Amino acid sequence: MIRIDILSIVTELLDSPLNHSIIQRAKNKGLVELHIHDLREYGKGKYKQVDDYGFGGDAGMIMMVEPVYKLISHLKKERDYDEIIYMSPDGELLGQQLANSLSCKTNLIILCGHFKGIDHRIREHIITREISIGNYVLSGGELPAAVLCDAIIRLIPGAISDETSALSDSFQDNMLAPPVYTRPADFNGWKVPDVLLSGNPKLIKDWQDNQAMKRTRDLRPELLKEESED
Ligand code: SAH
Repeated sequence: MIRIDILSIVTELLDSPLNHSIIQRAKNKGLVELHIHDLREYGKGKYKQVDDYGFGGDAGMIMMVEPVYKLISHLKKERDYDEIIYMSPDGELLGQQLANSLSCKTNLIILCGHFKGIDHRIREHIITREISIGNYVLSGGELPAAVLCDAIIRLIPGAISDETSALSDSFQDNMLAPPVYTRPADFNGWKVPDVLLSGNPKLIKDWQDNQAMKRTRDLRPELLKEESED
C-alpha cells in the first residue's frame, strides 16, 4: 500500500486523471490511497490568500510559504514521509527508473506549484526532491503530479491485471516494447504478422524480442548505450 498526498490550489485539475481506469481500480483494490488537499484551506486571512507578489518587482504571483508549511507540518505529525516532492520544470527528469523506485515507497507528498512558482524557502527547507516531467513549462504542477502518480501506481503489483505487463512496457530494461496487434487478423488486406498467429510461444517470443531490439536501435539507440554503461 502506498499513500500519496497531493497539495494544490486548483484541486479540480486532479479530478479526472486520478479517478478513472487503472488508477481508480488500484484505489478500489486498496493498493493506493490518494489524498488531495486544497492549500486554500490553510490560506491567510478572510480571503484564504495563498499567493502574493514577488520581492524584487518581477511580474507574477508566487505561492506563499505559510499555507504549505502549515499543511505539510500537519501531515508530518500524522506519519513519516519518504519524500516531499515538488513538481518543477527545473527538477530531476522523470524516467522509468525514478518511477520504479518511487513505487516502492510508503508515504509520499507531492506539491503542485502555480503561477510563477513557489517561495524558494519551501524548496530550501521543506522539499526533499524536485521532479520535472520534461523541458517545457506548464501552467501548474497538477498535470505533472497526475503524470507522476500514474507512472508510479501502474507499477504497484496488482494494479494491472496481468502482473508481468508493466514489466514488459517500454523503458523497462532500457528497451522499447514490440508492436502489438489485435483482431481482426486481416483488416482490408492489412495483415497481422504471420508468426503471431502461429501458436508457437517460442517463435512468438523470439519475434517480439527481435522487434523490440530493432525498434530500440532505430528509434532510441541511446537507450542501448545507457544499458551497456550500467
Ligand atoms: N517560473 C517557473 C515556472 C512556473 S510554472 C520557472 O520558470 O521555472 C508553474 C508551476 O507548474 C510550477 O511551480 C510547477 O509546479 C509546475 N510545472 C510547470 N512545468 C512543469 C514541468 N515541466 N514539470 C513539472 N512541473 C511543472
